[in-house]
Amino acid sequence: MSTLIINLAMPPPSQSVKSRHVAVVGAGAAGLVAAKELHREGHSVVVFESGNEVGGTWVYTPRVESDPLGLDPKRPIVHSSLYNSLRTNLPREVMGYRDFPFVTRPGNNRDPRRFPGHREVLMYLKDFAREFGVEKMVRFGREVVKVGTLENEKWKVRSKRTTSFNNENNDNYNDDIAIINKSEVEFDDEIYDAVVVCNGHFTEPRIAEIPGINLWPGKQMHSHNYRLPEPFRDQVVIVIGSSSSAVDICRDIAAVAKEVHVASRSVADETYTKQPGYDNLWLHSMIDSACEDGTVFFRNGKVVFADVIMHCTGYKYHYPFLETNGIVSVDDNRLGPLYKHVFPPALAPSLSFVGIPWKVVPFPLFEFQSKWIAGVLSGRIKLPSQKEMMEDIKAFYSTLEASGIPKRYSHCVGEYQFEYNNWLAAQCGCQGIEKWRKPMYSAVSENKRLRPETYRDEWKDQHLVLEAHEDFINYTS
Ligand code: FAD
Repeated sequence: MSTLIINLAMPPPSQSVKSRHVAVVGAGAAGLVAAKELHREGHSVVVFESGNEVGGTWVYTPRVESDPLGLDPKRPIVHSSLYNSLRTNLPREVMGYRDFPFVTRPGNNRDPRRFPGHREVLMYLKDFAREFGVEKMVRFGREVVKVGTLENEKWKVRSKRTTSFNNENNDNYNDDIAIINKSEVEFDDEIYDAVVVCNGHFTEPRIAEIPGINLWPGKQMHSHNYRLPEPFRDQVVIVIGSSSSAVDICRDIAAVAKEVHVASRSVADETYTKQPGYDNLWLHSMIDSACEDGTVFFRNGKVVFADVIMHCTGYKYHYPFLETNGIVSVDDNRLGPLYKHVFPPALAPSLSFVGIPWKVVPFPLFEFQSKWIAGVLSGRIKLPSQKEMMEDIKAFYSTLEASGIPKRYSHCVGEYQFEYNNWLAAQCGCQGIEKWRKPMYSAVSENKRLRPETYRDEWKDQHLVLEAHEDFINYTS
């Protein structure tokens, strides 16, 4: 199939718009689509990428960090959290950008499955970058170390070269080289009209708090550093969490481990169930405490003598490079204040963030956010006043509080993601989410909940797949 893409979603920008010089931090799925939309709107774009290829999270590496829990702030960072066996947890129709469908592409090395392996996603992102000329805008091997405001409302972006010690595909990587080269780095300072932050938020681990854990003698690690099951052969492993990663990793490990015990916060305290299809995989309620003799107590009263605790407990927003004099900060994993998860009112529109919402279908959401940012920067789309945006944020926080939703769930958009996308589309004057996407997402979510082992290979929403492909004809020919 040829990949001639026609953008039906949005009229081309008018002649009267302002062109800005924009820095994008990161060339993952968010940074790539941000660059594409900014460029399309007529802005000049430079994308800073500390790695050596586009794709962000989807650039798999067998390397792991020196601190398996990821707590040591001085550790050399490995960006990606992918494990070797990972297949997407969304079907490709739902997962792809709206203007660049994630259809099966010809080639011996392509993965045609509906829920492909991680390498296929990387190849899709590379296709996207090539198709829209985004690769030309990327400065590879350049890490942004400082983003700060200047008096004239411009931004100073300081970057340093990272190639020699951040080559994730380099098997000869070692920390000594990293230290030597770090001391030789040179910094570049450049001035931009605007900065779009797309640095991802699946790298800095969050750890479960467990009473007694400091004396517990076993090994602890975060799923960020999980790659393969083999090291867990014949071991007793506790996996904490109920996210997609926890669901996959506990099964990956159960194939070789002696026992795997999953500790979940989202089940009743008395829960203790053997998982269908396994003799060695149990679901428990949360851990109560861990002891010096190696035992771990669960809330359901069960006691397990474990070798390893694997924290599949998510990640923290982390912006070590951002200097906004406290205007933007992270508090209990709430990045704020942000109008509609994108613009900090006091610095809008010249500072923006793509990809903050979680429990969402990421790529199309990034695409709508990027269209909005690009249009606002050019002056084609108007934002409310700073005061109105702050009032909107305060009202949003009050609603969360009144509903008993903790601060750390502020960006959990989940339920209202499709309405959010359509709201963004309305701001941009472009078409919203297609009518099959939400029902397909719901059908897959339900199938996954009921059949975690097989949902990627057996489904009942084929009619929606056909509907999606009818739409895709508008974008591919
Ligand atoms: P990233 O992909 O993390 O990209 C950020 C980029 O910024 C990286 O390339 C990084 O090197 C660069 N960067 C960071 N800091 C700097 C700096 N200071 N200077 C320069 N460059 C910098 N989503 C799905 O849609 N389907 C799935 O099946 C799915 N499975 C997932 C499984 C796992 C284990 C994880 C962790 C995530 C999964 N996701 C999935 C979510 C996935 O993260 C998003 O789909 C998306 O790829 C995130 O894109 P991003 O651009 O926001 O961040």
